[in-house]
Amino acid sequence: MLFKGSSTYTLNSCETIELFYNIRTDLDKLEAVANITKMIQDVTDENQNTYKIMQLYLNTLYVIANTEKKIAFTEAIFKLKLLTLLGFAPRVEKCCICGEKEITHFSLKDSGVKCTSCSLQDTGTIAISTSTWQSLRYIVLAPAKKLYSFEIAEENQKQLELIAKLYTNDKLEKNYN
Ligand SMILES: [Zn+2]
Repeated sequence: MLFKGSSTYTLNSCETIELFYNIRTDLDKLEAVANITKMIQDVTDENQNTYKIMQLYLNTLYVIANTEKKIAFTEAIFKLKLLTLLGFAPRVEKCCICGEKEITHFSLKDSGVKCTSCSLQDTGTIAISTSTWQSLRYIVLAPAKKLYSFEIAEENQKQLELIAKLYTNDKLEKNYN
């Protein structure tokens, strides 16, 4: 229950809707949620409409608390979606330079995917599989409720985790580990 004062709100009472209890009983889950919460605090401000970020946050907490999805992979999906909501969506439809549809790399410099010949002229690219590329597209385009409902092979998860880490640190100009 919030009361609006002249310049601030006063919190009078509250009722818990969801405790995410499992997060407290697992140190790895707790650490991941602390990282995610720190990022949310960094990118949001009071009195902004942050409904979509709130929705992403709650869905992510749910997945971490109640599923066995790999935590590092969950964090990577969260980061890429958060950046997308903040207006930093990577260009994932086709090669961001020439429009080619056969994708082999992700470019940090140009914030998008690239074909082999365009990636040769870019030293900041990461080699990605077709499956990683499709996952990237999925993360950028998927509605909130379906965001976490896909699985890919471990090696592709690793590629996504690397892209998410470097892309986030680059766009938010901070070192999130
Ligand atoms: Zn190209």
